[in-house]
Amino acid sequence: MIAGIETGGTKVICAVADRQDPGAILATTRIDTTSPDETTEAIRGFLADHGEEGRFDAVGIASFGPVDVDVGSPRFGYITSTPKPGWRNTDLVTRLRLAPGTPVRLVSDVTGAALGEHRSGAGRGVSDLAYVTVGTGVGVGLVVDGAPFTQRNHPELGHLLVRRHPRDSFAGVCPFHGDCLEGLASGPAIEARWGRPATDLGPRQQDSVMMSSYYIAQLLATITYAAAPQRIIAGGGVMKTPGLLDAVREQLVLLVGEALADHPLTDTTSGYLVPPELGDSSGVRGALSVASDVLPPVPDLG
Ligand code: ZN
Repeated sequence: MIAGIETGGTKVICAVADRQDPGAILATTRIDTTSPDETTEAIRGFLADHGEEGRFDAVGIASFGPVDVDVGSPRFGYITSTPKPGWRNTDLVTRLRLAPGTPVRLVSDVTGAALGEHRSGAGRGVSDLAYVTVGTGVGVGLVVDGAPFTQRNHPELGHLLVRRHPRDSFAGVCPFHGDCLEGLASGPAIEARWGRPATDLGPRQQDSVMMSSYYIAQLLATITYAAAPQRIIAGGGVMKTPGLLDAVREQLVLLVGEALADHPLTDTTSGYLVPPELGDSSGVRGALSVASDVLPPVPDLG
């Protein structure tokens, strides 16, 4: 039996599966993310109910962060410099009080979503992909040769510095940079720029789609140049804005087209840029696959 845990900023999803079939979830639960004490106690309760006497062959965690994912680091398993109140320097792994010797692996929440989509969602059939989320923040997870990139750290491309839209005079909301990508294109940035929530822009929607696509396309161009994925999956609350995904595809052609003339992104119908398929379960499915990847394959005796 293996366990997967996705710790998100507002909710935690836990699931268990057989180690031989990590894609088939046997039990799952959803827990509100409150204080570290309360939240980790609820996770422990779920694990105690579903392990073999509380024991698991391996546990995978996909966590909001920043989180130390390096198994060789003295702070492995810590949520480090998060702005989330009460969670700074939280030793997440120790708090789960797993049986001694239980293998544990961590990835960032976005990397978990990338792995989940890779194994059982919109990323099936390719070995290299990027998962981009545009919501409260902007995050990127990469899968390279079927495995998370990297095992020691994770990309922080939300703070990418972007070229400004000529009609955009908004200062941006990033506390560190003002007008980095997250400062200009995240949900809070959209709300601050237009004075309306990103999910209810009313008459401002078309202008917002035009401006957001201009910025998000720059992130996708950067990912394409740097990591050369076979597919990019774009999720998160902002990406659900009607028309945005198509607008980003078009901006991407304008931005990159001539430089990478034969690249599939130059054909907006190629399936290079797609929405996620797994919704809320991509992160926990990624966490299960991280757990199963720790273990040696079980010999098939059939
Ligand atoms: Zn920034």
